[in-house]
Amino acid sequence: MPTISRRSLLAAGVTGAALAATRAPSRAAAPAAGTQAAGFYRYRIGRYELTALNDGVWNRQIDAGFIANAPFAQVQQAMADAFMPPGRLAIPFTSLAVNTGPKLVLIDTGTGGQLQPVAPQSGTWSNNLAAAGIAPASVDIILISHFHPDHINGIKTKDGQLTFPNAAIHVPAAEWAYWMDDARMNAAPEPAKPAFRNARRIFSDIARDVSRFAPGAELAPGIIAIAAPGHTPGHTVFAIASDGQSMLALGDTTNNPWLFVRNPDWQAAFDIDGPMAAATRKALLARAAADRMLVHGYHFPFPAAGHITRGARGYDLVPAMWQATL
Ligand SMILES: [Zn+2]
Repeated sequence: MPTISRRSLLAAGVTGAALAATRAPSRAAAPAAGTQAAGFYRYRIGRYELTALNDGVWNRQIDAGFIANAPFAQVQQAMADAFMPPGRLAIPFTSLAVNTGPKLVLIDTGTGGQLQPVAPQSGTWSNNLAAAGIAPASVDIILISHFHPDHINGIKTKDGQLTFPNAAIHVPAAEWAYWMDDARMNAAPEPAKPAFRNARRIFSDIARDVSRFAPGAELAPGIIAIAAPGHTPGHTVFAIASDGQSMLALGDTTNNPWLFVRNPDWQAAFDIDGPMAAATRKALLARAAADRMLVHGYHFPFPAAGHITRGARGYDLVPAMWQATL
């Protein structure tokens, strides 16, 4: 077995470049494509066909204020351990379509391309939906995990039209109570106000048609709401079961898994109640690990699905492996 040192790899690169320079090209250089394949991915739970739909990524600058209860050096080490660039966290968005047969259910609706000013690499969702062959008019039910803009903005187009004209919209009652409370909005500090205003932009004129559910509700056959408060007061995850198989759609229970699955105690700046979010996260990760359940995480790396195992300290994500067939 030859030894492979960093020096020998570099030397091989130099030799290769030298050879390329001396040989005449055998064919014309291929231009770089510069584009990506459509971001959708299908898998099954029992008889249900699921489609993960990617909405691009927000490359968010982070600093010492991002995680309130961990030294920034530890956060930076966790990022380095996961081969992430220092100070820049990739936050992808992936929602989930569940085709139960009789019903096509959408869990969260993406950014609607409306976060592009802060996240220019987001907003690929509607192209991916089209590439997946899902017509917006064919969506029967929309389930919302919580009212942050990256989860609800896709309900409407930029000019305020409904994206899914035939869909019944179901939202957590506790989430509605929190975000649609004018007194709370008025009392909120200025940086928190835009999310309240955005919830009104999406929901005010369709309020009569939005149904509000309580934890435990079965919102489509085999899809049950589970309270998961902390990230937001009414944050909800969904258990999906068909034919003896089940999974959890975790929403924003954990953001980037290399930070928050591995360190479930860490409280991110966007968790409204940090300690409660951590308690919820630990309970759900423990359940997923014990039951060996497949999970979907809205901000996990695409296709945003995998299994949870117990790690050295916290937990770890074993990402789902791409399957060529269903
Ligand atoms: Zn989110």
